[in-house]
Amino acid sequence: MAYDIALLRGDGIGPEIVDSAVAVLRAVGKKYGLDFNFTNYLIGGAAIDETGVPLPEETVKGCLGAQCVLLGAVGGPKWDGLPGDRRPEKALLGIRSALGLYTNLRPARLFPALSDECPLRRDIVDRGFDLMIVRELTGGIYFGDRGYRDGRYGREAFDTESYSAYEVERIARAAFSIAGGRRKKVTSVDKANVLETSRLWRATMEKVSEEYPDVELGHMFVDNAAMQLVRDPGQFDVIVTSNMFGDILSDEASQISGSIGLLPSASLGEGSRGMYEPIHGSAPDIAGQGIADPLAAILSAAMMLRISLGLEREADDIERAVDQAISDGFRTPDIARAGGESVTTREMTQAVIDRI
Ligand code: NAD
Repeated sequence: MAYDIALLRGDGIGPEIVDSAVAVLRAVGKKYGLDFNFTNYLIGGAAIDETGVPLPEETVKGCLGAQCVLLGAVGGPKWDGLPGDRRPEKALLGIRSALGLYTNLRPARLFPALSDECPLRRDIVDRGFDLMIVRELTGGIYFGDRGYRDGRYGREAFDTESYSAYEVERIARAAFSIAGGRRKKVTSVDKANVLETSRLWRATMEKVSEEYPDVELGHMFVDNAAMQLVRDPGQFDVIVTSNMFGDILSDEASQISGSIGLLPSASLGEGSRGMYEPIHGSAPDIAGQGIADPLAAILSAAMMLRISLGLEREADDIERAVDQAISDGFRTPDIARAGGESVTTREMTQAVIDRI
């Protein structure tokens, strides 16, 4: 059986880490007799340089024709001076909306072997945590009306947050279904004491929760959630929240996990096709040095196997190999102890492959 996977390697460390994920997928394919067809498409700065636009039509077509998409990262100083709608990052919003991806899953867990790197207090670390942030991806303030106008103090800028009940219902169902396969607890994060969109969000969560009687629903204000994530992350199973709150909370969650270089993500829509990518950016400061941590990209590939391709055993195998490589002491510089030894991107990738 052959699986068609579109690769969007992008900019900065994107190509290095996507190459690592592909090498690991090939190793899994060899072990289990699976055939992966990988096709590269341009995105971001690389696409601007070659075609003049960050998201060429051919890329959209190629991704729509694939079973799933693996993305590295886009952006870098070379393109920072371009106007907003021509910047590499614009391609991310474009490809998500072209593929109808409105659910973003960001797991964050403690890797026991890295517990010394966790910035939290020892007693909190000892309790451990394994949570999933479900972030709404195509609505809210990042997509609302924006502009400039004359205000009371002169010229002012504005951005608008809006959510329909429909948009909240579908992200709620995604969160409840995911929680059903985990510890059956959903915490919906909002700012319902201030925002009207949050009041609709909360009421809609309550309504949809009736369809999932075995999943417990709780609510938390976003300011409290930000605090609880560092005070007691173990209390969370699934956190569901809006686009902007999810953006912020998931970076916070990444930090308590040890390194931004470890965290994968999945973006999903209605069908089985999804786009999988590390949560970090293109890290221009270390691009081309061969020292990027490939684990977030490799773990994104594992999520892709499990969620879009239904290859649970193969996904487990990759995750176990990553855990083992870390436990065996392999560390790229981002997770190495101060003054400790570190390995290159290639060496870390090989360490994972050797454990598959
Ligand atoms: P970043 O995530 O690229 O880097 C932040 C810090 O984390 C840097 O010090 C970097 O070296 C480090 N880091 C990130 N990934 C790492 C890895 N795999 N291994 C080791 N260290 C890693 O964020 P930034 O510096 O704010 O943004 C850089 C560029 O990436 C910008 O152009 C930004 O717009 C873009 N960006 C893209 C995406 C995406 O493609 N999804 C996401 C965020 C930022």
